[in-house]
Amino acid sequence: MCFCRSGKVSLSVCLSLPLFLSLSRLFYRCEAGSCVGRAWRCHIKMDPETRSRQQIVLILLGALTLASCYPQHRCEYEDYLLGRCRSPLGRRPKCTEIRLSYCEDMPYTETLFPNALGHTSREEVELGAEYLLMSVVETLLSSGGGGGGGGGGQCSPDVRMLGCAVMTPRCEHDWPMQPCRHVCETVRRRCAAAFDAIAMAWPYFLDCDRFFVSEEEGCYDPLEGLRVEQDGDDDYYGGLPPAEDPSFGSIRFGHHSEAELASVLSQTAERCSDVARTYSIGRSYEGRDLLAIEFSGNPGRHELLEPEVRLVGNMHGNEALGRQLLLYLAQDLCNEYRQGSPRVQALINTTRIHLLPSMNPDGYEVAAAGGQDATEDEEEGRKYGARNVGRTNAQGIDLNRNFPDLASIVYRRRRLRTYRTDHIAIPDFYWFGKVAPETYAVMKWVRSIPFMLGANLHGGDLVVAYPYDLSKHPQQHKLFSPTPDEKVFKIIARTYADSHPTMGRDQAWCGSSRASKNGIINGAQVSSFAGSMQDFSYLHTNCYEVAVNLGCDKFPAEEDMENAWHENQEAFISFLEGAHRGIKGLVKDEGGNGIKGARVSVRGVRHDVTTAEQGDYWRLLAPGVHILTATAAGYTRAIKRVRLPPGMPHAGRVDFVLTKTALEPNATALNRVEEEVVVVVRAEEEEGGGGGGYYSEQDDYERFDPYNHFERYTASALAARRQERRAEKPWWWSFFVGSGGGAAPTWLLRKED
Ligand SMILES: [Zn+2]
Repeated sequence: MCFCRSGKVSLSVCLSLPLFLSLSRLFYRCEAGSCVGRAWRCHIKMDPETRSRQQIVLILLGALTLASCYPQHRCEYEDYLLGRCRSPLGRRPKCTEIRLSYCEDMPYTETLFPNALGHTSREEVELGAEYLLMSVVETLLSSGGGGGGGGGGQCSPDVRMLGCAVMTPRCEHDWPMQPCRHVCETVRRRCAAAFDAIAMAWPYFLDCDRFFVSEEEGCYDPLEGLRVEQDGDDDYYGGLPPAEDPSFGSIRFGHHSEAELASVLSQTAERCSDVARTYSIGRSYEGRDLLAIEFSGNPGRHELLEPEVRLVGNMHGNEALGRQLLLYLAQDLCNEYRQGSPRVQALINTTRIHLLPSMNPDGYEVAAAGGQDATEDEEEGRKYGARNVGRTNAQGIDLNRNFPDLASIVYRRRRLRTYRTDHIAIPDFYWFGKVAPETYAVMKWVRSIPFMLGANLHGGDLVVAYPYDLSKHPQQHKLFSPTPDEKVFKIIARTYADSHPTMGRDQAWCGSSRASKNGIINGAQVSSFAGSMQDFSYLHTNCYEVAVNLGCDKFPAEEDMENAWHENQEAFISFLEGAHRGIKGLVKDEGGNGIKGARVSVRGVRHDVTTAEQGDYWRLLAPGVHILTATAAGYTRAIKRVRLPPGMPHAGRVDFVLTKTALEPNATALNRVEEEVVVVVRAEEEEGGGGGGYYSEQDDYERFDPYNHFERYTASALAARRQERRAEKPWWWSFFVGSGGGAAPTWLLRKED
């Protein structure tokens, strides 16, 4: 009657038949010997007492049926391992010795089969893709897709031992032990970046929820032995790894593929999570993330009066040194901070530092691939930058020529007495041209953060070049073309060059910078070109940016990298500290509220800076006496005379309080113009040639990208990326193809979102 031969048949089936029969009789009313609505007959006429007694009997019968079914539920071995039942039936397996070479360093010596994956013998384990993965996983993670270790060392051999704990479970007294879930979770967290770096999914059989149990259920730590070897720090698997581990946080001086770069950045941010975070400023044409890392006492947000600095590398894809140096710098800042360096701690606590190691990852991939093909003969050409493969982005656009050319606008207006060299609006015609998604992402980035100092890193020369890059005379290409802030730019450039052991030497040039003066030069004197990032930064934002040319070799050999780092380490730190020069302060109203977008002017310098969201501003200045004016629409202006002594270790604090005025909003602006402008010469004529409405400039400035290039580019790039991914298998796939065992481990392929 009962179909409970296999424990897999559900209890409801066991119950349903007898109960159905009894209940059907009970609930149909018996009237005059026949059941209403049914053909069944009531043979016995029952009084209510008899009927209730029969009900009890039938219910007991049902319960008995259920009880008789239960013991026959067979606890299969897999059910037991998956926690579905308590005691497995059948032949009880015995502990056997682990005889799998990749699992021999486990803290126990005996295992038993079948394991949770259903393998019934050592031979079956050896044939499985899971074991194959464990045998190569350390190699895969440490190779990271390109050359050298990509941080996989952080999770080896842990991940392999975790796999062994599932494939060869610990056996004691012929009983399998379950590995701890929290150990699995820690390893998974620590391995995330390494798996990401090789685009591999977390293996299904290391699912912490399924194959591992909690402490309450009685688990053991499969990495026990490992922990003892690694100096017994109890924190090791609970929180941050120990700082004492000498290999931990050490910098690998070599080239890093795009995946390795991402992995190192995220590991660094994780290691210094109190003061660092990574973020993407957008995507390249081929859909690669433009990854930045930020260091700050409060990562993720601007703090009042804290200066923001940025360093951008690899704008030219074939100029790889800057990209690498920024990666080393990120790790160095994190290491020094953790080791308690007072200098780096002070720097990070008072400065918000953004590093974008690669602005052109697509170009880099091309250049890196070409670099591997270089033969001995090509060595010479490679060294002196003759090979420019990968310089541009994937669309063939030179990113350092692709920013809006605002210098031309300024030059055209320079006979106007009212001309300015700050916050020049981007003319609409710029957007009609080809705007690279990388350029666009950087433009959006530099407008969204109140950067006040920056550098972009190049190769092929050894000199710091400062604006303008565009010659003020269209026919003279090596013409000295200074900004109104020449003094300031010289100080900024000199900070870097003087902290570098060789850059400041006269004979150190290797490119075209013959006119360089001890390692610094006006950009236009090297070669004149329009649309550079530093010209744009100066003319459109509050950021003072220079171009640091790091050396003659654009793509140095791996063995030269460490030396290059030591040459630039001090220069980077000094440069970043340079954010604390000049003056800074708040422009407030009488109620103490910061005024956003107020202008701070320096008499004699036609370049204003504007206040950020909360009314804070930074103005780099050369030492000396300066007359400062703060203005804002709808307020009276305030003037201050400041003396800035040389060698001040911090920026001087100069605040302004502005009073609301009853006058029209434009009146203050007019007021300022009246004072500074004696005669307006040929205003109309100049405006006509200006290419953008000069008088409505302030309104235009707020406008950004009227054609929304961003959406267009990212949509197409993402589609292309998805297609490419579908077609291609990751490089490590070959390890698993034709391995003889079972099905190919498609579970290692990451699912695209
Ligand atoms: Zn360059």
